[in-house]
Amino acid sequence: MNEKKNTVVIAAHADGHILPETWDLAAFAQQLAGGRTEAIEIYVVGENIGPMAEEIAEQTGLDVRAVSCAGLRYFSSEVYCRVMGQMLSNKGVLYIIAAHNSQGQEYAPALAVMLNAGCISGVNGLRFDDGAVLFQRDVHGGKARANMISHAETTVLTVQPGVFRPDAARRAAPGRVSRQEAEYTPGRTRVSGIQKARADAAGIAEAKVVVAAGRGIGEEENMPLMESLAEMFPRSAVAGTRIVCDRGWLPYSRQVGVTGATVAPALYIACGISGASQHVMGMRGAKFVVAINTDPQAAMFNESDVCIVEDVTTFVPLLLDVFRQQQNDNPVPTAPDNEESGG
Ligand SMILES: Cc1cc2nc3c(=O)[nH]c(=O)nc-3n(C[C@H](O)[C@H](O)[C@H](O)COP(=O)(O)OP(=O)(O)OC[C@H]3O[C@@H](n4cnc5c(N)ncnc54)[C@H](O)[C@@H]3O)c2cc1C
Repeated sequence: MNEKKNTVVIAAHADGHILPETWDLAAFAQQLAGGRTEAIEIYVVGENIGPMAEEIAEQTGLDVRAVSCAGLRYFSSEVYCRVMGQMLSNKGVLYIIAAHNSQGQEYAPALAVMLNAGCISGVNGLRFDDGAVLFQRDVHGGKARANMISHAETTVLTVQPGVFRPDAARRAAPGRVSRQEAEYTPGRTRVSGIQKARADAAGIAEAKVVVAAGRGIGEEENMPLMESLAEMFPRSAVAGTRIVCDRGWLPYSRQVGVTGATVAPALYIACGISGASQHVMGMRGAKFVVAINTDPQAAMFNESDVCIVEDVTTFVPLLLDVFRQQQNDNPVPTAPDNEESGG
């Protein structure tokens, strides 16, 4: 590796496609390197990764190393660690950057141990303070931020998706692609296949109004309350946080966030949602946000245009009563289901 390259990005990909996190990592690496693109190299590891390597070099303008590992069809934490560990040991790399997604969270800490490196995970902010680099991450459910400094010679970082956005206007010349072979040794566990989830997320991605349920709704029996709230608006849909989906109150296709869907409705109503960064990243494109939460310090209120400090199971039935009463008193023809009526 070129001695000048002190920052290595490990591209995130699955099923033969580059994951969007990769573009965020490239943007983060450039900020970290103070715009010195020659200091950065992006590694793509796996089987048949040539076309992806070319695309990354084209899109980012950064140099790319295509590490071909015949047999590594599906992501494997063990194999990634072994391959990257062998390639980067004794290279004097300052930063190794991976996505804070399910892949990066699995292999990055293990890679740090293997390289005797420091590890800072879930980075969602970067500051330069009097010569020191401060890596920021949310703590206490997003209510506070920690500034982390690494004193290690090499530091492995995992970066939250959706925070560091590539500059669409900047089009550099394509980076160079170099190729390398890596031996595939099967790990102790292996993925035997991937079964795709039923894709019915289109409902929330296309909705003009999204009513999102969080753990604060209390119990599954309150989900019909969310449905009734959504029915107040044309072109609406009900979504939820990961906890709500984990509990089976909604299918995973309705989860909003970094590991769920990204939505950008005209109106987003967050019911009993704390506002964890992993959730917020999926709804930051919403034009107008209303949050209902009993905790006046909830991080969700930082993202909201209207903040209602109230028990959601008290507030929503009252709102529905008022709405139904108004409809009875002043019946209006149903609004046409078009762009203008969407909220
Ligand atoms: C790698 C990773 C990926 C993740 N991806 C996602 C993702 O894609 N999407 C996602 O949503 N999460 C994701 N998470 C989980 C995320 O970190 C949070 O745990 C989750 O978003 C919290 O869900 P919540 O707001 O429903 O619950 P909580 O954090 O428990 O918040 C519940 C809120 O409800 C409020 N409340 C309680 N009772 C009431 C009441 N009666 N009325 C009104 N408010 C009330 C509380 O004050 C609190 O603010 C991810 C986590 C990790 C580690």
